[in-house]
Amino acid sequence: MSFKDLKLNKPILRAIAEAGYDNPTLVQEKTIPSVLEKRDVITSAQTGTGKTAAFALPILQLLYDKQDAPKKGKKIRALIVSPTRELAIQIGKNFKTYAKHTNLRSSVVYGGTSIEPQKDILEKGIDILVATPGRLLDLHKQDLLNLDYIEVFVLDEADLMLDMGFIDDVKKIERLCPETKQTLLFSATMPYKVEQLASSILTNPIRIEVTPTSSAAQNVSQVLYYVPKKNKIELCLHLLRNTVKGSILIFRRTKFGVDKLEQTLTNNGYKIERLHGDRTQVERQNALADFKRGKVNILIATDVAARGIDIAELDAVINFDLPNVPETYVHRIGRTGRAGEFGNSYSFCSADEKPYVKTIQQLINVQIPVEDGHPYPLDPKAKPIVHKKQGSKYKKGRKGEGSKKKKKRWY
Ligand code: AMP
Repeated sequence: MSFKDLKLNKPILRAIAEAGYDNPTLVQEKTIPSVLEKRDVITSAQTGTGKTAAFALPILQLLYDKQDAPKKGKKIRALIVSPTRELAIQIGKNFKTYAKHTNLRSSVVYGGTSIEPQKDILEKGIDILVATPGRLLDLHKQDLLNLDYIEVFVLDEADLMLDMGFIDDVKKIERLCPETKQTLLFSATMPYKVEQLASSILTNPIRIEVTPTSSAAQNVSQVLYYVPKKNKIELCLHLLRNTVKGSILIFRRTKFGVDKLEQTLTNNGYKIERLHGDRTQVERQNALADFKRGKVNILIATDVAARGIDIAELDAVINFDLPNVPETYVHRIGRTGRAGEFGNSYSFCSADEKPYVKTIQQLINVQIPVEDGHPYPLDPKAKPIVHKKQGSKYKKGRKGEGSKKKKKRWY
């Protein structure tokens, strides 16, 4: 299928061609026609599948088609709510790229930064607004934002919204929009609570599932290192010196953990950037930009800060701490091996994290190969589940993803 088959208008097709997209991805193929038919849609797709364009392109088309209608002034007609600032910024950039040859205007509002420039942009008038929930509600409370003309409401990364405790805010925002609107919900996983939310805000939705809810990135190798907690830093340094090369994203569960590891790696001569919720917006953007530009090759992040971030050519993911929510494992390793590239993932498991391995393996329905040929084994006498020589090429991982759990406050 080509983009032309999706019956998109010329200015949009031109922008897509300039972005270098040849054909629609599967999620785009499946979602775009339903959105153009003005149906409510619930799409379960992992990040990296092209899901932003799956909603952005048809929204632009719908709004563009109605541009000749009597002028209402610049009223916000499409609202995209996204859980994190980085994701919101990324979505905003995509809209600008795709709307380049239309006169549709879009902007992004998010917290952690001055409200004044955002006020000015809203005053000038825009067609499409991408927002994080807190800042959106702030602006609305201050009467700086009118949601009465919303025609399309998009809830992106709904499962992460739940995780971050935004669900009440999301419901509030939905109620601030007109009752008759088109609603699109995107979620990487579909836990019960997301289903519940969907049934309360969507009307007779089309359901689209692009990947099975439990599939880990197909082209990412996985390997597990059992290691005492106290030796994780040594193991990390050992791998960075000998095995893991290129651009590397290291995940830690806590902000404190990110900062601590950054210190140690910096002291060992590595150039590091950090992403976590305690850093200012400018710091987070700079960190990401430096990593994307290759100014530093190692980024250490908490899950929330890194979710959905599109980093081209990421070579490896290191799970310095194993996530306690198995779906998070799938998301983390899915940061590499994107857009057809092959990626590697390395996970450290200390004694207390063994139960997490069990739930992850249940979810992905695969035994993760264990590397026992390293200098810091957890139990030197223990028989490995699968023996692999260090530095060898591991075969692909598979299957993973499903439900999510409640609020965590340490990111
Ligand atoms: P997303 O899942 O929306 O974060 O998109 C992941 C990456 O795929 C982004 O870098 C997009 O620019 C890119 N992308 C989206 N759609 C296409 C397409 N049809 N062809 C090639 N790349 C695409």
